[in-house]
Amino acid sequence: MSNTQQTTLFAALLQASLDGIVVLRPMAGPDGGFADLVFETVNRRAEEILARGAGGLVGLRALRDFFDGDDAAFDKYRRVWLTGEPARFEVDRRSGPAGRVFRGAIVRADDRIVVTFSDVTELVEANEALERQRVELLYQYELLDEQAADLARIAEDSDAARAEARNGARFVADLLEAMPLPVFFKSREDRRFRMTNRLFAELHGSGDRDATGSTVDDFFEAETVASIDRLDQQFYDSPAPRQVYETDMTFAGAGDRRMVVHKAKMRDAENRLIGITGVMVDVTEAHRLRQELERLATTDPLTGLANRRAFLERAAEEVERASRHDRPMSVVMIDVDHFKAINDRHGHDIGDQVLQRVAEVVGSTLRQAGDLAARFGGEEFVLLLPETPLGGARMLAERIREAFEVTRVDTDDGPVNFTASFGVDALRPGLDAGIDAVIKRADDALYRAKAAGRNRVHLAA
Ligand code: GH3
Ligand code: MG
Ligand code: MG
Repeated sequence: MSNTQQTTLFAALLQASLDGIVVLRPMAGPDGGFADLVFETVNRRAEEILARGAGGLVGLRALRDFFDGDDAAFDKYRRVWLTGEPARFEVDRRSGPAGRVFRGAIVRADDRIVVTFSDVTELVEANEALERQRVELLYQYELLDEQAADLARIAEDSDAARAEARNGARFVADLLEAMPLPVFFKSREDRRFRMTNRLFAELHGSGDRDATGSTVDDFFEAETVASIDRLDQQFYDSPAPRQVYETDMTFAGAGDRRMVVHKAKMRDAENRLIGITGVMVDVTEAHRLRQELERLATTDPLTGLANRRAFLERAAEEVERASRHDRPMSVVMIDVDHFKAINDRHGHDIGDQVLQRVAEVVGSTLRQAGDLAARFGGEEFVLLLPETPLGGARMLAERIREAFEVTRVDTDDGPVNFTASFGVDALRPGLDAGIDAVIKRADDALYRAKAAGRNRVHLAA
């Protein structure tokens, strides 16, 4: 190939290239050193890319004309010329009229500088799009990661909440069973027991069978059912948060029991009254003991009659009642005659037997329900006779006196007879503030009966 042919081929390749190609020739300064580069050849693509308007670039100087004297921009070219080391560059002209990105290389070829540059806009934009996608994906990933963490936390929380609820429900169930008392929850809507424990079932004779679903109709007679329903209704109607009462009940599984029932109102999340929770305390034994103590505190152990304390208590009530309603009321004081002599002759035990017999005779002679006979102390007895005027009291005392006279106490020491003296008086309305005054006058009358020879009834003066 001839030189001409080579030059023609070179020119054709230059023009056909899709890359921009520029050939620059060095230019010496006044001192003979390197000063600038002059555009020698600029192919069509380069002209397009660098588009500097009419006239083209050929013949222009790079530093002076293209970079407008910007030495920093030109420096890269100077270094390539001086060192022979190729350099790369990238120019982003997307904001300018060309709207493209170029990547190029600056190479020293013998006594020329060749600059090639290609349009890498698509590549850059594809890269940028990829980068954007990568960032977006990363962001999405982080988001998902966060969501996953959130989900895990929620799952954990709800697991914990479920476990807690389960534990709570189990705790209540265990507590119900551990309770040493029968416990129930009764629904307001249908009166059914919705929650019960084993002791509740046992109390009602359900054995191990669950008592839930039952109603009081399944456990009690109609009368008790009516009374329970009435109490429940009163409770629902009242503002009181609790209802407590003591009652006698008959249970299929436990028989007759004395129970203290504690009830509380149950409300739902919307504060609607939905039922009653109840705990039953069996106080049968305590109640029996209480009654026994009460009896012991008010009863004379030898005769079984009321003691002095019980008498004075009842008497105070009766005086109050008689005064308020202007009703008659009498008192009879009784003292066994020569009782010391009975003790002396037969012994203390036989004296006791006589006192017991006195009590029997007195008790059997009293007829009215309100009458009260008491041992006042030693061999002294006293009768409280409400609704009884002096005359009636005197007749009763006389009847008792006669009964004593014919009473023969059979003892180990043979038959023992006894008599007693009586003092009688009635409450004086408007004058007597209490029972003491009446007792005092009856006692005075008794003293006079003794003085008059015993075995007789005397009225107060
Ligand atoms: P009077 O006709 O004057 O009433 O003579 P009295 O002997 O009954 O009179 P006094 O009050 O002097 O005697 C009462 C006696 O009763 C004295 C006491 O030892 C006896 N006594 C008191 N309490 C009891 C008791 O619980 N059991 C027995 N066995 N004797 C009692
Ligand atoms: Mg006496
Ligand atoms: Mg006496």
